Amino acid sequence: MYKIMSAGPTQVSEKVRMARSLETTNPDLDEVFFDFYKDTCDILKELLHSSGDAFILGGEGILGLEAACATLTEKGDRVLVLDNGIFGKGFADFVTMYGGEAVLYTCDYRRPIDVDELRKFLEKDSDFKYATVVHCDTPSGILNDVSRICPLLAEFGILTVADSVAGMFGEYLNVDESKIDILCGGSQKALSAPAGLTMLWVSPKAMKVMENRKTPVAAFYANILNFKDYYKNMAFPYTMPISDINGIRAALENVKADKDIFQRHAKIAKATRAAVTKAGLKLYPEEGYSNTVTVVEVPEGLTDEQILMTVRNKYNVLLSGCFDVLAGKVFRIGHMGENARVEDMTETMDALDKTFSDLGYKLNCSMKDEFLAQLK
Ligand SMILES: *Cc1c(COP(=O)(O)O)cnc(C)c1O
Repeated sequence: MYKIMSAGPTQVSEKVRMARSLETTNPDLDEVFFDFYKDTCDILKELLHSSGDAFILGGEGILGLEAACATLTEKGDRVLVLDNGIFGKGFADFVTMYGGEAVLYTCDYRRPIDVDELRKFLEKDSDFKYATVVHCDTPSGILNDVSRICPLLAEFGILTVADSVAGMFGEYLNVDESKIDILCGGSQKALSAPAGLTMLWVSPKAMKVMENRKTPVAAFYANILNFKDYYKNMAFPYTMPISDINGIRAALENVKADKDIFQRHAKIAKATRAAVTKAGLKLYPEEGYSNTVTVVEVPEGLTDEQILMTVRNKYNVLLSGCFDVLAGKVFRIGHMGENARVEDMTETMDALDKTFSDLGYKLNCSMKDEFLAQLK
């Protein structure tokens, strides 16, 4: 087994794995399961400070992004797509797929969105039904400040869809205070359950807009409205993956019990960035680093493939490369959720030290030593 230190999926605790092996019932007929599902959604609301609705859908993180766009978009709707990263830009595909007009607001991929610049743009054009923004854009490791961006959009009467699949539970997030209308999450990033579930938090305002659509939603599986009254009607739109829900419940209980989860992420991320830069490597972001993932440029003379294959095949550590415009340019260390542990990161830094040495690339110092020194 490799040590999974990729930018998601992350390692899964024994408690979560055991919960997934519990005896199962018929989730469409057993009233106990409806309460269990609802209680689990209530934990989601509590942990992210939301007074709206929360739902868990069977399907990976991408399903949540698509469901938000599918259920909000009507033909011809103008949608502002905040694009300072690969996932940020990717929202345009979901918007257009469901008949909307995606207006890209494109910024530097090495920096978070500048809120003052965005305000200037909105003062000229704010005729949008909703806007999309990514909290942590995982391919580049950029953290956008949704606690300022979403309230600004709300000020201009624009609904907000925020993707925090790779931010939530590693970075503090407050749905109500940030005025996020639809928040999208996934099971397999900092929450550290296996891949397979998406979570959605929906504000009463967004729910009303979706209910008052003039045209039907062009999707069934990705239609949030199909979940709206599941508890009242004691009916899910499709059979819930009960073992996955058991697993996510245990993962949420882990997070709930982890009182300094954000400090843990911040400390490990800071030490990682310091180790990488002191060793002479370059971080991809220039500012606005997410504490869930560190994105490092592939240095001159090496390829991402050489680094990723050596660290995996010789040292058993699985790291991420990248895709789209960053393909081949960076490698990524995912230190989120269960991965954000000193022992795992020490082993990872040691494996990278040895990998660079094997490849004949001279680092200015040992990343492992520097990482540990930073934690003192
Ligand atoms: C992982 C991730 C998703 C979900 O992608 P999957 O391919 O379903 O795992 C969405 N948004 C961001 C920012 C992510 O990091």
